[in-house]
Amino acid sequence: MDDQDPGAMTIGEMLKAKIFRARAVAFGCWLLFAATMFFDLPGLHRGWMVVPFVGFMGAVLYIMWCVNCPRCGARLGQVLSGTSKPNFCPSCGVGLDAHV
Ligand SMILES: [Zn+2]
Repeated sequence: MDDQDPGAMTIGEMLKAKIFRARAVAFGCWLLFAATMFFDLPGLHRGWMVVPFVGFMGAVLYIMWCVNCPRCGARLGQVLSGTSKPNFCPSCGVGLDAHV
């Protein structure tokens, strides 16, 4: 087996890309939420504030539930977005620099 394929992503890169996308969505929703708070847009019903809020919560839940170890399925979102970033899956021990 050739695991030196330069085009293949490592497990860590794949999971970080997922977290990055979810954070981009969360940030966009947060900005939208802040905008609806600070700019009392005429004609915009307050109920619309729910939309970015739900999007933000969805992105947070996505990081918590959908960023999984591809080998054992352990949830790694919180581990990887924390301050101490391990270089392996704490559940099954697979290296995050291994290719998917
Ligand atoms: Zn694992």
